Amino acid sequence: MLLTFEQAKKNILEATNNHKPAMEKVALFDALDRITAEPVISPINVPSFNNSAMDGYAVRLSDINQSTLLPLAGVIYAGDDISSLNWPKGSCLRIMTGAPVPNEASAVVMQEETEQTESGIKFLQEIKPASNIRYIGEDAKQGAVIVEKGTRLTIPTLSSLATLGIAELTVYRRVKVAIFSTGNELTEIGSPLANNSAIYDSNRFTLKLLLNKLNCEIIDLGIIVDDPSKIKQTLETASKQADLVISSGGVSVGDADYTKMALEELGKVNFWKIAIKPGKPFAFGNIGNALFCGLPGNPVSTLVTFYQLVQPLILALAGQNLTEVELSLKVKTATNLKKSIGRLDFQRGVLQISTNGELEVVSTGQQGSHLTQSFNHANCFILLEKDRGNVTKGEIVTVELFNTLLK
Ligand code: AMP
Ligand code: MG
Repeated sequence: MLLTFEQAKKNILEATNNHKPAMEKVALFDALDRITAEPVISPINVPSFNNSAMDGYAVRLSDINQSTLLPLAGVIYAGDDISSLNWPKGSCLRIMTGAPVPNEASAVVMQEETEQTESGIKFLQEIKPASNIRYIGEDAKQGAVIVEKGTRLTIPTLSSLATLGIAELTVYRRVKVAIFSTGNELTEIGSPLANNSAIYDSNRFTLKLLLNKLNCEIIDLGIIVDDPSKIKQTLETASKQADLVISSGGVSVGDADYTKMALEELGKVNFWKIAIKPGKPFAFGNIGNALFCGLPGNPVSTLVTFYQLVQPLILALAGQNLTEVELSLKVKTATNLKKSIGRLDFQRGVLQISTNGELEVVSTGQQGSHLTQSFNHANCFILLEKDRGNVTKGEIVTVELFNTLLK
């Protein structure tokens, strides 16, 4: 019996429960894409003083009620100290954007709603109390939680923390991932192909790109030939150094597929086969404290299983709250889709706007797990349910837009 995709994902996430990542302090600038290990609390009010949102004039409404023409008593610039300001009753102050607003001011009137005359500033429109004043703590209150624990730090988030003057953050340590490829046929990229039946080791290259994007520390153990004792030895070395070990190839039912056997001997197999396409052979388990994912060798299967199963696993190991929703929608397919009943398909597609302005999805063409061009121009997965058969043009399908990992 093949495990369902949902059950496989559940098993994977459950296995991360007793892996609590360590913490470290990093400078704000180095915190991009890291995960907060504790809530971030604002040390100050922002803004920390009432200030003007406009270039204009600070007024007291009590003065305006007496006269809409007020003499000018002074100017306040951004950065000025107004603690000893003298502002006579019956006058107004010129004030610039970001300049401190005196407590007595009821509003700032924007320049465009005034007229300069010889005897002072004429106010042309009705003035709403508190208008154009940015009040203390309006953006962030001192002591308030600004970022929850377990949040991935983005540029907008770090930008807002910079306004609080925060220079250092406590984040989780990067996840350490050891990788290796298995296969006698593999040649390192950059070298000439070793013989007529050699291929390039594209998977390890792809894995490195993916792991970099997920901010992991990578331990690259290279290409390992299809020799059970070498694979065992590599697995053992890897499991002593890493939080997670990922291999590619050798998990299927061929005579040179030794990875699962090695896992059985050294550690524990949690599951081995999933009812998905591509990516049916996918070994998951652990060797001591290190978790292990044995990805299938076909490049498309490697990418699909990494995206759908290893990505959430790494986010969980990294301490991230898995609350970000994957954007999925139901749209019409503009092409027929070949599908056999029994597995959940992650076909690759292009979500686009049709000539009559509606969202539609088209297949990228042949979906073989060795055809990397089926991924090349895709922007989404077309999820075809386990029990569904061939899909005809015009039917509604579920589409999952690629997240930033594939962009
Ligand atoms: P395997 O899972 O080892 O049976 O491999 C399945 C298919 O994927 C075979 O055609 C392999 O040649 C190919 N393959 C295995 N490892 C890699 C790799 N690292 N890069 C590219 N293709 C691979
Ligand atoms: Mg192989």
